[in-house]
Amino acid sequence: MNRLKSFLAGKWNEGLTAPTALLNPATEEPLAEIATGGTDLAAAVGFAREVGGPALREMTFKQRGERLQKMAKVIHAHRDTLIHLAIQNGGNTRGDAKFDVDGAMGTLSFYAELAETLGDTSVLVDGEGVKLGRSPRLYGQHVLSPRCGVAVHIGAFNFPAWGAAEKAACALLAGMPIISKPATATALVAHKMTELVLEAGILPEGAFQLLLGQVGDLFDHLGGQDVVAFTGSSATGAKLRGNPRLVSENVRVNIEADSLNAAVLGPDAQVGSPTYDLFLADVVRDMTQKTGQKCTAIRRVLVPEPLEARVREDLCERLSAIKVGNPMLDEVTMGPLATSSQLADVRAGVAKLRAETEVVLSGLQASPLGVPSGKGFFFGPTLLRCPRSGPSSAVHCHEVFGPVSTVIPYDGTAQAAVEIVRWGAGGLVSSVYSDDRAFLTDMVLGLSPFHGRLYLGSAKIADKAPGPGTALPQLVHGGPGRAGAGEELGGLRGMALYLQRTALQGDKALIDAITGRG
Ligand code: NAP
Repeated sequence: MNRLKSFLAGKWNEGLTAPTALLNPATEEPLAEIATGGTDLAAAVGFAREVGGPALREMTFKQRGERLQKMAKVIHAHRDTLIHLAIQNGGNTRGDAKFDVDGAMGTLSFYAELAETLGDTSVLVDGEGVKLGRSPRLYGQHVLSPRCGVAVHIGAFNFPAWGAAEKAACALLAGMPIISKPATATALVAHKMTELVLEAGILPEGAFQLLLGQVGDLFDHLGGQDVVAFTGSSATGAKLRGNPRLVSENVRVNIEADSLNAAVLGPDAQVGSPTYDLFLADVVRDMTQKTGQKCTAIRRVLVPEPLEARVREDLCERLSAIKVGNPMLDEVTMGPLATSSQLADVRAGVAKLRAETEVVLSGLQASPLGVPSGKGFFFGPTLLRCPRSGPSSAVHCHEVFGPVSTVIPYDGTAQAAVEIVRWGAGGLVSSVYSDDRAFLTDMVLGLSPFHGRLYLGSAKIADKAPGPGTALPQLVHGGPGRAGAGEELGGLRGMALYLQRTALQGDKALIDAITGRG
Protein backbone atom coordinates (compact mmCIF):
# COMPACT_ATOMS: atom_id res chain seq x y z
CA MET A 1 0.00 0.00 0.00
CA ASN A 2 1.25 3.48 -0.90
CA ARG A 3 2.06 5.14 2.49
CA LEU A 4 1.86 8.95 2.12
CA LYS A 5 4.54 10.82 4.01
CA SER A 6 4.53 14.08 5.93
CA PHE A 7 7.34 16.55 5.17
CA LEU A 8 8.53 18.07 8.43
CA ALA A 9 11.78 19.73 9.50
CA GLY A 10 13.27 18.99 6.09
CA LYS A 11 12.52 15.24 6.09
CA TRP A 12 9.83 12.93 4.73
CA ASN A 13 8.26 10.92 7.53
CA GLU A 14 5.80 8.06 7.21
CA GLY A 15 4.37 8.01 10.75
CA LEU A 16 4.07 5.31 13.38
CA THR A 17 0.41 4.78 14.26
CA ALA A 18 -1.89 2.19 12.71
CA PRO A 19 -2.56 3.63 9.25
CA THR A 20 -5.86 5.04 7.95
CA ALA A 21 -6.76 3.99 4.41
CA LEU A 22 -7.66 6.56 1.76
CA LEU A 23 -10.40 5.12 -0.45
CA ASN A 24 -11.93 5.65 -3.85
CA PRO A 25 -15.43 6.63 -2.66
CA ALA A 26 -17.09 5.27 -5.82
CA THR A 27 -15.67 1.74 -5.50
CA GLU A 28 -14.32 1.66 -1.91
CA GLU A 29 -10.96 0.48 -3.27
CA PRO A 30 -8.01 1.53 -1.03
CA LEU A 31 -5.67 3.96 -2.79
CA ALA A 32 -3.11 4.88 -0.14
CA GLU A 33 -2.69 5.13 3.61
CA ILE A 34 -1.63 7.67 6.20
CA ALA A 35 -0.13 7.19 9.65
CA THR A 36 0.76 9.87 12.18
CA GLY A 37 3.25 10.28 15.02
CA GLY A 38 6.98 9.75 15.16
CA THR A 39 7.75 13.37 14.36
CA ASP A 40 8.94 16.11 16.64
CA LEU A 41 6.39 18.83 15.99
CA ALA A 42 8.27 21.31 18.19
CA ALA A 43 11.18 20.88 15.78
CA ALA A 44 8.87 21.46 12.79
CA VAL A 45 7.60 24.71 14.34
CA GLY A 46 11.19 25.74 15.11
CA PHE A 47 12.28 24.89 11.56
CA ALA A 48 9.54 27.14 10.13
CA ARG A 49 10.31 30.00 12.52
CA GLU A 50 14.10 29.83 12.33
CA VAL A 51 14.75 28.70 8.75
CA GLY A 52 11.67 29.26 6.56
CA GLY A 53 10.49 32.56 8.04
CA PRO A 54 13.80 34.46 7.83
CA ALA A 55 14.35 33.24 4.24
CA LEU A 56 10.90 34.42 3.19
CA ARG A 57 11.25 37.75 4.98
CA GLU A 58 14.54 38.40 3.23
CA MET A 59 12.59 38.54 -0.04
CA THR A 60 10.41 41.45 -1.09
CA PHE A 61 6.70 41.08 -1.80
CA LYS A 62 7.49 41.07 -5.52
CA GLN A 63 10.03 38.26 -5.14
CA ARG A 64 7.62 36.16 -3.09
CA GLY A 65 4.97 36.75 -5.76
CA GLU A 66 7.36 35.32 -8.36
CA ARG A 67 7.51 32.10 -6.30
CA LEU A 68 3.71 31.91 -6.26
CA GLN A 69 3.64 32.20 -10.05
CA LYS A 70 6.15 29.33 -10.28
CA MET A 71 3.93 27.24 -7.98
CA ALA A 72 0.95 27.90 -10.29
CA LYS A 73 3.07 26.84 -13.29
CA VAL A 74 4.12 23.56 -11.64
CA ILE A 75 0.49 22.75 -10.84
CA HIS A 76 -0.44 23.59 -14.43
CA ALA A 77 2.26 21.27 -15.77
CA HIS A 78 0.81 18.40 -13.70
CA ARG A 79 -2.84 19.39 -13.98
CA ASP A 80 -3.98 16.08 -15.47
CA THR A 81 -2.29 14.04 -12.74
CA LEU A 82 -3.93 16.13 -10.02
CA ILE A 83 -7.34 15.98 -11.73
CA HIS A 84 -7.05 12.21 -11.98
CA LEU A 85 -6.22 11.93 -8.26
CA ALA A 86 -9.19 14.18 -7.35
CA ILE A 87 -11.51 11.95 -9.39
CA GLN A 88 -10.14 8.83 -7.72
CA ASN A 89 -9.81 9.99 -4.12
CA GLY A 90 -12.47 12.74 -3.92
CA GLY A 91 -15.27 11.16 -5.94
CA ASN A 92 -15.08 14.27 -8.13
CA THR A 93 -16.37 14.39 -11.70
CA ARG A 94 -13.79 15.82 -14.09
CA GLY A 95 -15.59 19.17 -13.87
CA ASP A 96 -15.49 19.09 -10.04
CA ALA A 97 -11.80 18.22 -10.08
CA LYS A 98 -11.00 21.05 -12.50
CA PHE A 99 -12.92 23.45 -10.24
CA ASP A 100 -10.56 22.51 -7.37
CA VAL A 101 -7.24 22.26 -9.27
CA ASP A 102 -7.81 25.26 -11.58
CA GLY A 103 -9.05 27.21 -8.57
CA ALA A 104 -5.70 26.52 -6.87
CA MET A 105 -3.74 27.73 -9.90
CA GLY A 106 -5.99 30.76 -10.42
CA THR A 107 -5.63 31.88 -6.82
CA LEU A 108 -1.83 31.52 -6.81
CA SER A 109 -1.62 33.47 -10.10
CA PHE A 110 -3.94 36.17 -8.78
CA TYR A 111 -1.73 36.74 -5.73
CA ALA A 112 1.40 36.61 -7.89
CA GLU A 113 -0.02 39.43 -10.03
CA LEU A 114 -1.07 41.37 -6.95
CA ALA A 115 2.53 41.10 -5.69
CA GLU A 116 3.78 42.93 -8.76
CA THR A 117 1.74 45.95 -7.72
CA LEU A 118 3.27 45.83 -4.22
CA GLY A 119 6.78 46.07 -5.61
CA ASP A 120 10.24 45.50 -4.18
CA THR A 121 9.41 46.38 -0.61
CA SER A 122 9.49 44.47 2.67
CA VAL A 123 6.93 46.50 4.53
CA LEU A 124 3.52 47.65 3.31
CA VAL A 125 2.15 51.09 3.94
CA ASP A 126 -1.42 50.85 5.24
CA GLY A 127 -3.57 53.79 4.23
CA GLU A 128 -2.69 57.47 4.28
CA GLY A 129 -0.47 58.94 7.00
CA VAL A 130 -1.78 61.60 9.39
CA LYS A 131 -0.41 64.87 10.79
CA LEU A 132 -0.43 64.49 14.57
CA GLY A 133 0.09 68.05 15.78
CA ARG A 134 0.39 71.61 14.59
CA SER A 135 3.72 70.96 12.94
CA PRO A 136 3.65 68.85 9.74
CA ARG A 137 6.75 67.07 11.08
CA LEU A 138 4.93 65.09 13.77
CA TYR A 139 3.38 62.34 11.75
CA GLY A 140 1.71 58.94 12.04
CA GLN A 141 1.64 56.11 9.51
CA HIS A 142 0.35 52.54 9.77
CA VAL A 143 2.56 49.83 8.28
CA LEU A 144 2.14 46.08 7.80
CA SER A 145 5.01 43.65 8.27
CA PRO A 146 5.19 39.83 8.21
CA ARG A 147 4.70 38.06 11.53
CA CYS A 148 7.70 36.08 12.75
CA GLY A 149 5.95 32.79 13.47
CA VAL A 150 4.47 29.89 11.53
CA ALA A 151 1.10 29.70 9.79
CA VAL A 152 -0.66 26.42 10.57
CA HIS A 153 -3.21 25.63 7.86
CA ILE A 154 -5.89 22.99 8.50
CA GLY A 155 -8.05 22.11 5.50
CA ALA A 156 -11.45 20.47 4.92
CA PHE A 157 -11.82 17.35 2.77
CA ASN A 158 -13.79 18.96 -0.03
CA PHE A 159 -11.16 21.23 -1.66
CA PRO A 160 -7.74 19.63 -1.13
CA ALA A 161 -6.06 21.69 -3.89
CA TRP A 162 -7.82 25.06 -3.81
CA GLY A 163 -8.19 25.02 -0.02
CA ALA A 164 -4.46 24.57 0.51
CA ALA A 165 -3.47 27.01 -2.25
CA GLU A 166 -5.73 29.89 -1.22
CA LYS A 167 -4.31 29.82 2.30
CA ALA A 168 -0.73 29.29 1.07
CA ALA A 169 -0.89 32.16 -1.44
CA CYS A 170 -1.80 34.70 1.26
CA ALA A 171 0.64 33.42 3.90
CA LEU A 172 3.65 33.02 1.58
CA LEU A 173 3.09 36.38 -0.08
CA ALA A 174 2.83 37.99 3.35
CA GLY A 175 6.14 36.31 4.25
CA MET A 176 5.06 33.56 6.68
CA PRO A 177 6.17 29.90 6.47
CA ILE A 178 3.48 27.23 6.53
CA ILE A 179 2.71 23.89 8.15
CA SER A 180 -0.19 22.59 6.06
CA LYS A 181 -2.46 19.81 7.34
CA PRO A 182 -4.97 18.56 4.77
CA ALA A 183 -8.04 16.50 5.71
CA THR A 184 -7.00 12.86 5.88
CA ALA A 185 -9.71 11.25 3.72
CA THR A 186 -8.85 13.17 0.51
CA ALA A 187 -5.17 13.97 1.14
CA LEU A 188 -3.83 12.41 -2.09
CA VAL A 189 -4.20 15.65 -4.07
CA ALA A 190 -2.71 17.90 -1.38
CA HIS A 191 0.16 15.44 -0.90
CA LYS A 192 0.94 15.32 -4.64
CA MET A 193 0.76 19.09 -4.95
CA THR A 194 3.23 19.47 -2.07
CA GLU A 195 5.58 16.89 -3.56
CA LEU A 196 5.56 18.74 -6.90
CA VAL A 197 6.21 22.15 -5.36
CA LEU A 198 8.98 20.83 -3.09
CA GLU A 199 10.67 18.85 -5.89
CA ALA A 200 10.66 21.96 -8.09
CA GLY A 201 12.70 23.77 -5.42
CA ILE A 202 10.55 26.88 -5.70
CA LEU A 203 10.36 27.79 -2.04
CA PRO A 204 13.19 28.33 0.43
CA GLU A 205 13.84 25.55 2.92
CA GLY A 206 11.38 25.58 5.82
CA ALA A 207 8.80 27.70 3.99
CA PHE A 208 6.39 24.82 3.40
CA GLN A 209 5.87 21.73 5.55
CA LEU A 210 3.18 19.08 5.22
CA LEU A 211 1.62 17.35 8.22
CA LEU A 212 -0.56 14.34 7.40
CA GLY A 213 -3.01 12.73 9.82
CA GLN A 214 -3.61 14.12 13.28
CA VAL A 215 -2.28 17.43 14.61
CA GLY A 216 -0.86 15.74 17.73
CA ASP A 217 0.72 18.25 20.11
CA LEU A 218 1.33 20.85 17.38
CA PHE A 219 -0.74 23.57 19.08
CA ASP A 220 1.25 23.19 22.32
CA HIS A 221 4.23 24.74 20.53
CA LEU A 222 2.47 27.80 19.12
CA GLY A 223 2.81 31.34 20.41
CA GLY A 224 1.84 34.93 19.83
CA GLN A 225 3.58 35.34 16.45
CA ASP A 226 1.87 32.26 14.99
CA VAL A 227 -1.39 31.89 13.08
CA VAL A 228 -3.90 29.05 12.76
CA ALA A 229 -6.19 29.16 9.72
CA PHE A 230 -8.81 26.43 9.88
CA THR A 231 -11.48 25.30 7.41
CA GLY A 232 -13.98 22.64 8.42
CA SER A 233 -17.01 21.99 10.55
CA SER A 234 -18.25 24.33 13.28
CA ALA A 235 -17.75 21.57 15.84
CA THR A 236 -14.02 21.23 15.10
CA GLY A 237 -13.71 25.00 14.74
CA ALA A 238 -15.16 25.48 18.24
CA LYS A 239 -12.65 22.97 19.68
CA LEU A 240 -9.77 24.87 18.10
CA ARG A 241 -11.04 28.24 19.23
CA GLY A 242 -11.21 26.94 22.81
CA ASN A 243 -7.79 25.25 22.78
CA PRO A 244 -6.17 26.45 26.04
CA ARG A 245 -2.76 27.07 24.47
CA LEU A 246 -4.17 29.05 21.58
CA VAL A 247 -6.23 31.08 24.06
CA SER A 248 -3.43 31.68 26.58
CA GLU A 249 -0.88 32.67 23.93
CA ASN A 250 -3.37 34.80 21.93
CA VAL A 251 -2.52 32.91 18.77
CA ARG A 252 -4.37 34.42 15.82
CA VAL A 253 -7.07 31.95 14.75
CA ASN A 254 -9.19 32.23 11.62
CA ILE A 255 -12.17 29.90 11.29
CA GLU A 256 -14.05 29.09 8.08
CA ALA A 257 -16.95 26.82 8.99
CA ASP A 258 -20.50 25.74 8.11
CA SER A 259 -23.03 27.87 6.33
CA LEU A 260 -26.71 27.58 5.46
CA ASN A 261 -26.43 29.68 2.32
CA ALA A 262 -29.73 30.88 0.87
CA ALA A 263 -30.89 31.68 -2.65
CA VAL A 264 -33.82 34.10 -2.73
CA LEU A 265 -35.96 34.43 -5.84
CA GLY A 266 -37.40 37.96 -6.07
CA PRO A 267 -41.15 38.45 -6.61
CA ASP A 268 -40.50 40.20 -9.95
CA ALA A 269 -38.66 37.25 -11.58
CA GLN A 270 -41.00 35.89 -14.27
CA VAL A 271 -40.90 32.22 -15.20
CA GLY A 272 -38.66 31.86 -18.27
CA SER A 273 -36.93 35.24 -17.76
CA PRO A 274 -33.08 35.31 -17.78
CA THR A 275 -33.13 36.02 -14.01
CA TYR A 276 -35.42 33.06 -13.29
CA ASP A 277 -33.32 30.74 -15.46
CA LEU A 278 -30.11 31.94 -13.77
CA PHE A 279 -31.66 31.16 -10.38
CA LEU A 280 -32.61 27.62 -11.48
CA ALA A 281 -29.19 26.97 -13.01
CA ASP A 282 -27.37 28.22 -9.88
CA VAL A 283 -29.49 26.12 -7.51
CA VAL A 284 -29.00 22.96 -9.57
CA ARG A 285 -25.25 23.58 -10.00
CA ASP A 286 -24.76 24.23 -6.31
CA MET A 287 -26.74 21.17 -5.25
CA THR A 288 -24.81 18.82 -7.52
CA GLN A 289 -21.32 20.27 -8.11
CA LYS A 290 -18.91 18.35 -5.83
CA THR A 291 -22.02 16.36 -4.80
CA GLY A 292 -23.16 19.38 -2.79
CA GLN A 293 -20.01 19.24 -0.65
CA LYS A 294 -19.19 22.92 -1.01
CA CYS A 295 -19.23 25.30 1.94
CA THR A 296 -20.81 27.87 -0.39
CA ALA A 297 -23.55 25.57 -1.76
CA ILE A 298 -27.17 26.73 -1.65
CA ARG A 299 -28.97 24.93 1.19
CA ARG A 300 -32.15 27.05 1.47
CA VAL A 301 -34.17 28.14 -1.57
CA LEU A 302 -36.63 30.94 -0.81
CA VAL A 303 -39.42 31.31 -3.36
CA PRO A 304 -42.43 33.69 -3.42
CA GLU A 305 -45.57 31.65 -2.64
CA PRO A 306 -47.24 32.05 -6.09
CA LEU A 307 -44.13 30.68 -7.84
CA GLU A 308 -43.33 27.86 -5.46
CA ALA A 309 -45.09 24.96 -7.21
CA ARG A 310 -43.53 25.94 -10.55
CA VAL A 311 -40.04 26.26 -9.07
CA ARG A 312 -40.30 22.82 -7.46
CA GLU A 313 -41.41 21.32 -10.77
CA ASP A 314 -38.56 23.01 -12.71
CA LEU A 315 -35.92 22.03 -10.14
CA CYS A 316 -37.16 18.43 -10.06
CA GLU A 317 -36.99 18.17 -13.84
CA ARG A 318 -33.39 19.40 -13.92
CA LEU A 319 -32.25 17.41 -10.89
CA SER A 320 -33.79 14.22 -12.24
CA ALA A 321 -31.55 14.55 -15.31
CA ILE A 322 -28.38 14.36 -13.16
CA LYS A 323 -26.51 11.10 -13.77
CA VAL A 324 -25.12 9.76 -10.51
CA GLY A 325 -22.30 7.23 -10.64
CA ASN A 326 -18.60 6.49 -10.92
CA PRO A 327 -17.00 9.78 -11.97
CA MET A 328 -14.47 7.87 -14.12
CA LEU A 329 -17.33 7.59 -16.65
CA ASP A 330 -17.76 10.63 -18.92
CA GLU A 331 -21.57 10.53 -18.82
CA VAL A 332 -21.66 10.78 -15.01
CA THR A 333 -22.54 14.30 -13.82
CA MET A 334 -22.44 13.70 -10.06
CA GLY A 335 -20.13 11.41 -8.12
CA PRO A 336 -20.38 9.90 -4.63
CA LEU A 337 -19.93 11.63 -1.30
CA ALA A 338 -16.30 11.65 -0.21
CA THR A 339 -16.44 9.15 2.67
CA SER A 340 -18.69 6.64 4.39
CA SER A 341 -18.97 9.00 7.38
CA GLN A 342 -20.10 11.78 5.04
CA LEU A 343 -22.78 9.43 3.73
CA ALA A 344 -23.87 8.60 7.27
CA ASP A 345 -23.95 12.34 8.15
CA VAL A 346 -26.02 13.19 5.08
CA ARG A 347 -28.50 10.41 5.80
CA ALA A 348 -28.80 11.52 9.44
CA GLY A 349 -29.08 15.17 8.38
CA VAL A 350 -31.92 14.46 5.95
CA ALA A 351 -33.71 12.44 8.65
CA LYS A 352 -33.39 15.47 10.94
CA LEU A 353 -34.79 17.86 8.32
CA ARG A 354 -37.57 15.38 7.46
CA ALA A 355 -39.24 16.05 10.84
CA GLU A 356 -40.44 19.40 9.50
CA THR A 357 -40.24 19.05 5.72
CA GLU A 358 -41.88 17.17 2.86
CA VAL A 359 -39.81 15.26 0.32
CA VAL A 360 -40.08 16.73 -3.18
CA LEU A 361 -37.33 14.62 -4.75
CA SER A 362 -35.65 11.75 -2.92
CA GLY A 363 -32.00 10.90 -3.47
CA LEU A 364 -32.40 7.45 -2.02
CA GLN A 365 -33.65 5.84 -5.24
CA ALA A 366 -30.49 6.70 -7.19
CA SER A 367 -28.79 3.60 -8.57
CA PRO A 368 -25.27 4.67 -9.48
CA LEU A 369 -23.76 4.03 -12.92
CA GLY A 370 -20.57 2.03 -13.38
CA VAL A 371 -20.18 0.88 -9.78
CA PRO A 372 -19.82 -2.65 -8.36
CA SER A 373 -23.10 -3.66 -6.75
CA GLY A 374 -23.55 -2.29 -3.21
CA LYS A 375 -20.33 -0.26 -3.36
CA GLY A 376 -19.72 3.45 -3.04
CA PHE A 377 -20.94 6.31 -0.87
CA PHE A 378 -23.76 7.51 -3.12
CA PHE A 379 -26.63 9.80 -2.31
CA GLY A 380 -28.72 11.34 -5.12
CA PRO A 381 -29.98 14.95 -5.37
CA THR A 382 -32.62 15.52 -2.72
CA LEU A 383 -35.11 18.38 -2.68
CA LEU A 384 -37.21 19.05 0.40
CA ARG A 385 -39.97 21.57 1.08
CA CYS A 386 -40.51 23.39 4.37
CA PRO A 387 -43.84 25.23 4.31
CA ARG A 388 -43.55 26.54 7.87
CA SER A 389 -40.36 27.22 9.78
CA GLY A 390 -39.04 29.34 12.63
CA PRO A 391 -35.65 30.45 13.94
CA SER A 392 -34.94 27.12 15.63
CA SER A 393 -36.09 24.86 12.76
CA ALA A 394 -33.47 22.33 11.65
CA VAL A 395 -33.51 23.78 8.12
CA HIS A 396 -32.02 27.00 9.54
CA CYS A 397 -29.67 25.36 12.05
CA HIS A 398 -28.37 22.12 10.55
CA GLU A 399 -26.06 21.99 7.53
CA VAL A 400 -26.48 18.80 5.47
CA PHE A 401 -23.17 18.66 3.58
CA GLY A 402 -24.39 16.91 0.45
CA PRO A 403 -26.73 17.31 -2.56
CA VAL A 404 -29.65 18.44 -0.43
CA SER A 405 -31.63 21.70 -0.47
CA THR A 406 -34.95 22.83 0.96
CA VAL A 407 -37.52 25.03 -0.77
CA ILE A 408 -39.04 27.56 1.62
CA PRO A 409 -42.02 29.62 0.46
CA TYR A 410 -42.22 33.27 1.57
CA ASP A 411 -44.72 36.09 1.00
CA GLY A 412 -42.60 37.90 -1.61
CA THR A 413 -41.57 40.84 0.60
CA ALA A 414 -37.94 41.68 1.27
CA GLN A 415 -38.76 41.99 4.97
CA ALA A 416 -39.95 38.37 5.21
CA ALA A 417 -37.06 37.04 3.10
CA VAL A 418 -34.49 38.88 5.24
CA GLU A 419 -36.02 37.54 8.45
CA ILE A 420 -35.96 33.93 7.21
CA VAL A 421 -32.42 34.10 5.80
CA ARG A 422 -31.15 35.64 9.06
CA TRP A 423 -32.37 32.57 10.94
CA GLY A 424 -29.30 30.85 9.43
CA ALA A 425 -27.30 32.90 11.99
CA GLY A 426 -24.50 34.03 9.68
CA GLY A 427 -23.41 32.73 6.29
CA LEU A 428 -20.58 32.67 3.77
CA VAL A 429 -22.72 33.74 0.81
CA SER A 430 -26.37 34.17 -0.07
CA SER A 431 -27.82 35.08 -3.44
CA VAL A 432 -30.78 37.21 -4.49
CA TYR A 433 -32.31 36.91 -7.98
CA SER A 434 -34.22 40.00 -9.02
CA ASP A 435 -34.18 42.99 -11.37
CA ASP A 436 -36.09 45.18 -8.93
CA ARG A 437 -33.64 47.71 -7.48
CA ALA A 438 -35.80 48.56 -4.47
CA PHE A 439 -36.13 44.86 -3.54
CA LEU A 440 -32.39 44.27 -4.03
CA THR A 441 -31.49 47.34 -1.97
CA ASP A 442 -33.66 46.15 0.93
CA MET A 443 -32.14 42.68 0.69
CA VAL A 444 -28.57 44.02 0.66
CA LEU A 445 -29.21 46.27 3.66
CA GLY A 446 -30.94 43.45 5.55
CA LEU A 447 -28.51 40.64 4.74
CA SER A 448 -25.07 42.30 4.62
CA PRO A 449 -24.43 42.20 8.39
CA PHE A 450 -25.07 38.44 8.31
CA HIS A 451 -22.89 37.51 5.33
CA GLY A 452 -19.35 37.69 4.00
CA ARG A 453 -20.58 37.85 0.39
CA LEU A 454 -23.87 38.59 -1.38
CA TYR A 455 -24.41 37.56 -4.98
CA LEU A 456 -26.94 39.66 -6.89
CA GLY A 457 -28.25 37.60 -9.81
CA SER A 458 -29.95 39.75 -12.44
CA ALA A 459 -30.69 39.66 -16.18
CA LYS A 460 -27.68 41.86 -17.03
CA ILE A 461 -25.15 39.35 -15.66
CA ALA A 462 -27.10 36.15 -16.35
CA ASP A 463 -24.73 34.91 -19.06
CA LYS A 464 -21.53 36.05 -17.32
CA ALA A 465 -21.80 35.01 -13.68
CA PRO A 466 -19.98 32.01 -12.16
CA GLY A 467 -22.73 31.52 -9.54
CA PRO A 468 -22.58 32.13 -5.81
CA GLY A 469 -20.73 28.86 -5.12
CA THR A 470 -17.40 30.06 -6.54
CA ALA A 471 -15.15 31.83 -4.06
CA LEU A 472 -12.99 34.35 -5.92
CA PRO A 473 -9.56 35.60 -4.79
CA GLN A 474 -10.60 39.20 -5.46
CA LEU A 475 -13.49 38.97 -2.99
CA VAL A 476 -13.69 38.14 0.68
CA HIS A 477 -14.49 34.53 1.61
CA GLY A 478 -15.82 33.92 5.12
CA GLY A 479 -18.79 35.02 7.14
CA PRO A 480 -20.00 35.93 10.63
CA GLY A 481 -21.64 33.71 13.25
CA ARG A 482 -22.22 30.11 12.17
CA ALA A 483 -19.83 30.57 9.24
CA GLY A 484 -16.94 30.85 11.70
CA ALA A 485 -16.49 34.64 11.86
CA GLY A 486 -13.38 34.35 9.72
CA GLU A 487 -12.22 36.12 6.58
CA GLU A 488 -9.92 34.92 3.82
CA LEU A 489 -8.99 36.14 0.32
CA GLY A 490 -10.36 39.49 -0.89
CA GLY A 491 -7.08 40.62 -2.49
CA LEU A 492 -4.80 42.40 0.00
CA ARG A 493 -7.32 41.77 2.80
CA GLY A 494 -6.44 38.05 2.68
CA MET A 495 -2.87 38.82 3.80
CA ALA A 496 -3.98 40.74 6.90
CA LEU A 497 -4.07 37.55 9.00
CA TYR A 498 -0.34 37.05 8.43
CA LEU A 499 0.80 40.66 8.79
CA GLN A 500 1.17 42.81 11.90
CA ARG A 501 -0.25 46.33 11.66
CA THR A 502 1.96 48.82 13.48
CA ALA A 503 1.44 52.54 13.92
CA LEU A 504 4.68 54.44 13.36
CA GLN A 505 4.80 57.79 15.10
CA GLY A 506 7.60 60.32 14.57
CA ASP A 507 9.32 62.63 12.13
CA LYS A 508 7.53 62.56 8.75
CA ALA A 509 10.74 62.70 6.71
CA LEU A 510 12.15 59.76 8.64
CA ILE A 511 8.97 57.69 8.34
CA ASP A 512 8.73 58.45 4.62
CA ALA A 513 12.32 57.31 4.14
CA ILE A 514 11.80 54.08 6.10
CA THR A 515 8.59 53.23 4.24
CA GLY A 516 10.09 53.99 0.84
CA ARG A 517 8.05 57.14 0.28
CA GLY A 518 10.84 59.63 0.85
P1 NAP B 1 -13.85 18.59 9.91
O1 NAP B 1 -14.21 17.21 10.25
O2 NAP B 1 -14.12 19.66 10.91
O3 NAP B 1 -12.29 18.54 9.55
C1 NAP B 1 -11.63 19.67 9.05
C2 NAP B 1 -10.14 19.55 9.31
O4 NAP B 1 -9.90 19.59 10.72
C3 NAP B 1 -9.53 18.22 8.83
O5 NAP B 1 -8.24 18.49 8.32
C4 NAP B 1 -9.46 17.40 10.11
O6 NAP B 1 -8.47 16.42 10.05
C5 NAP B 1 -9.09 18.48 11.10
N1 NAP B 1 -9.41 18.15 12.47
C6 NAP B 1 -10.38 17.33 12.95
N2 NAP B 1 -10.35 17.33 14.31
C7 NAP B 1 -9.36 18.16 14.68
C8 NAP B 1 -8.83 18.57 15.93
N3 NAP B 1 -9.34 18.14 17.09
N4 NAP B 1 -7.80 19.43 15.95
C9 NAP B 1 -7.27 19.89 14.79
N5 NAP B 1 -7.71 19.53 13.56
C10 NAP B 1 -8.75 18.68 13.52
O7 NAP B 1 -14.54 19.08 8.56
P2 NAP B 1 -14.63 18.29 7.17
O8 NAP B 1 -15.59 17.17 7.36
O9 NAP B 1 -13.28 18.01 6.62
O10 NAP B 1 -15.27 19.41 6.23
C11 NAP B 1 -16.63 19.62 6.09
C12 NAP B 1 -17.06 20.86 6.81
O11 NAP B 1 -16.22 21.94 6.44
C13 NAP B 1 -18.45 21.30 6.43
O12 NAP B 1 -19.15 21.59 7.60
C14 NAP B 1 -18.25 22.55 5.60
O13 NAP B 1 -19.28 23.49 5.70
C15 NAP B 1 -16.99 23.08 6.14
N6 NAP B 1 -16.28 23.85 5.12
C16 NAP B 1 -16.21 25.20 5.27
C17 NAP B 1 -15.53 25.96 4.33
C18 NAP B 1 -15.42 27.44 4.46
O14 NAP B 1 -14.62 28.03 3.74
N7 NAP B 1 -16.16 28.08 5.33
C19 NAP B 1 -14.94 25.33 3.23
C20 NAP B 1 -15.04 23.96 3.11
C21 NAP B 1 -15.71 23.22 4.06
P3 NAP B 1 -8.83 14.90 9.69
O15 NAP B 1 -9.37 14.90 8.31
O16 NAP B 1 -7.52 14.23 9.81
O17 NAP B 1 -9.84 14.45 10.71
